[in-house]
Amino acid sequence: MELQENSLQAVRSLDQRDPLSVYRAEFEFPRSSSQPLYFAGHSLGLMPKNARRLVNEDLEAWATLGVEGHFEGERPWLPYHESVTPLLARLVGAKESEVVAMNSLTVNLHLALASFYRPHKERRKILIEHGTFPSDKYAVDSQAAFHGLDPQTTIIEAKPRPGEATIRTEDLVGLIQSEGYRLALILLGQCNYLTGQCFDVKAIVKAAQQFEIPVGLNLAHGAGNLALNLHAAQVDFAVWCSYKYLNSGPGGIAGLFVHEKHHHQNLPRLQGWWGHNKNTRFKMGSTFDPIPSVEAWQLSNPPILQLASHLASLRLFDQAGMVALRERGDRLTHYLGQLLNHHLSDRIQVITPPSPQRGSMLCLRFAESPREKVKLWARRGVFVDYREPDIVRVTPAPLYNSFEDIYRLVEVLKEDA
Ligand SMILES: *Cc1c(COP(=O)(O)O)cnc(C)c1O
Repeated sequence: MELQENSLQAVRSLDQRDPLSVYRAEFEFPRSSSQPLYFAGHSLGLMPKNARRLVNEDLEAWATLGVEGHFEGERPWLPYHESVTPLLARLVGAKESEVVAMNSLTVNLHLALASFYRPHKERRKILIEHGTFPSDKYAVDSQAAFHGLDPQTTIIEAKPRPGEATIRTEDLVGLIQSEGYRLALILLGQCNYLTGQCFDVKAIVKAAQQFEIPVGLNLAHGAGNLALNLHAAQVDFAVWCSYKYLNSGPGGIAGLFVHEKHHHQNLPRLQGWWGHNKNTRFKMGSTFDPIPSVEAWQLSNPPILQLASHLASLRLFDQAGMVALRERGDRLTHYLGQLLNHHLSDRIQVITPPSPQRGSMLCLRFAESPREKVKLWARRGVFVDYREPDIVRVTPAPLYNSFEDIYRLVEVLKEDA
């Protein structure tokens, strides 16, 4: 799609020709306006209609089976989380033994850090990117403090060069090489939540492996957005949430990836009964016998109603395929970027780097603070989101946004940005 497709008629015909357009009908849209424009999937993804059905089925199982629901019914609760595992594995490019749905994102980050952040003598620093999501910074600061270290000198940040909005890969790699064996861990957002920048994981893992530094990814903006290949990329661990790009509902169940090379090592781990050998779990023994997979990191029996909506959503991702979705996401976002540059470059600067250094989200810097406007737009059914002091984030989600949505959004911005 190029700029000549700049009429309502032209974008509608683009939508009609795209086989992935059928998935839009699987979602509920906010009802505050007759023609809602929803571009906030990086914050809370829309509800798949089937989520209601699956959650209701599990409520019904609870109502009619009581405790027997753990073993009976269409989806018994005891092995329930295993039903999302193959879908998650295909989504993030992992083996089934490497992924599990559990807890929430920051909890999983702490559990992974407990295993992978093992400061020892001079090797104690954690490298993160400047401008991480606050929770990530709080998590690494507190982990350093837990080991009796000063976060100020333990956490180091890769920064953009003066006057630039995003971090250059060569600078990140340079920092890894200059810190070398002083680094105990690298933790990066893939993509960054505020700039939309996606890092070159291959280059980073390569540099890290020279010094045997574990690499962890926060995929809050990666899972369901990028076509990932975590196993092949030899990432050590990754965590993500499911309520943003993964459309699994507010506070939805999160995910953890641990590369299989770590499953049989004696990594220290925080333990709970759900990580214990399934054959003997209910013998209620007092010695922990870990499941020989990522499942050993599980603590508790999982929230079934959250798994139900997660399952409904992951089925759509699996049917459409993440590679095809990324390709469509790329076309949608490219079209949005083109229209913005053409019509609004005097008022709006796109700070997200071009593909492949981005996913579906574009971060826009406004010449004038957009705070009040974003609130007004939401009342008219136009959903983007605002981050202090001058950033608006806009995400065309390839499962439910259309070229027509983008065209209409830019019409709103032209009138009112
Ligand atoms: C959304 C997001 C979080 C949120 O953490 P929760 O534990 O799910 O509340 C954390 N980190 C990043 C990078 C995020 O984008």
